[in-house]
Amino acid sequence: MTCPTCRRPIPDDKLACPGCTEDRSRAALTAYQMAPLRKVAAGEGDLTLRLIDAGKHIQMFGADRTFCNLNIPPKSERKRLAYVPEDLAKVCSLCRHHLNRAMEAACPNSAP
Ligand SMILES: [Zn+2]
Ligand SMILES: [Zn+2]
Repeated sequence: MTCPTCRRPIPDDKLACPGCTEDRSRAALTAYQMAPLRKVAAGEGDLTLRLIDAGKHIQMFGADRTFCNLNIPPKSERKRLAYVPEDLAKVCSLCRHHLNRAMEAACPNSAP
């Protein structure tokens, strides 16, 4: 069977196109970030920092996933991260990039 959306073949053992399912869940997860990010921008909430393989990444809200799309091992250390330039400067640049884009979408003109 071929996916009607992206025209890629769907494996016989799958009911839905894996690529499109992944895209949809990522889009839903991105949309889910908007409300908590507005709180962070308003100073009413913090971001969550996760230490993974000596790297510092920002956890997405409501998922065991970082903004740079890494799966978060359950035992990785967790810290609070304030939305201020000094603290953001210490984290993974890809996380920062995706966080900034999500933040622009959540609330324009909120850059710290
Ligand atoms: Zn597809
Ligand atoms: Zn990262």
